[in-house]
Amino acid sequence: MQYGKSERLYRIAEEPMKTLKISHIGIAVPRIEEQLAFYRDTLSLPLVGVEEVPSQQVRVTFFSVGESNIELLEPTTLESPIQKFLDANQGKARIHHIAYEVEDIEAALAEMKRQGLRLVDETPREGAGGVRIAFVHPRAAGGILTELCEHPKAP
Ligand code: ZN
Repeated sequence: MQYGKSERLYRIAEEPMKTLKISHIGIAVPRIEEQLAFYRDTLSLPLVGVEEVPSQQVRVTFFSVGESNIELLEPTTLESPIQKFLDANQGKARIHHIAYEVEDIEAALAEMKRQGLRLVDETPREGAGGVRIAFVHPRAAGGILTELCEHPKAP
């Protein structure tokens, strides 16, 4: 197969990121309560956390699925970015982002910058449970809002 100019292939091979697994899939929903029947009762997924994130104006609930999670995001205000996302989809639930766990988030962001990719967060910020997170712009990630997470290393 002909790739033509292989500059991008070359750049990717130069410094491979260590991407460990899918951390979670974030799903925007109008009301978390309305989703419990499916995720908790039908799929029997253990609920592993509920949290309010005032900076993002969302309430989140995590369900565990094997080594990954499902994250339900419910807006807490009309100005919430999640509310705007829902509004763009006639108010219906929809996948919002995919989160990958990486071994070293700083190295991952540095590598993405080196490749000229557009980032939402140039530096990691603090997420739930000491996890450090950063969002990659959908335009740099095949149209999908992409989150990177680095979990605290076990002491
Ligand atoms: Zn997330």
